[in-house]
Amino acid sequence: MACVDCGKPVEPVAHALALKIVNPCATEFRCLDCLAKTFGSSVERLLDAARNYRFRGCVLFKDIEIPDASRWDQSGRDQGAGPASLS
Ligand SMILES: [Zn+2]
Repeated sequence: MACVDCGKPVEPVAHALALKIVNPCATEFRCLDCLAKTFGSSVERLLDAARNYRFRGCVLFKDIEIPDASRWDQSGRDQGAGPASLS
């Protein structure tokens, strides 16, 4: 599956986040970078949210790898608060 914005492969965690946050019936998916841009958030925040959902037992996140946010450090971690729905 390719990101609708940039064409990169959509990470499993980005796929799960789209279903969880954007739309349970989503048919278009974005990679983590583009998902973060869409939310005006950062990849690090999205990954934190994903871990949080898994911690709470959300099945969407049960069997996927949630990558280390440090891989995305260069994308900037101080882009302001994400949407309240992420926390
Ligand atoms: Zn993308």
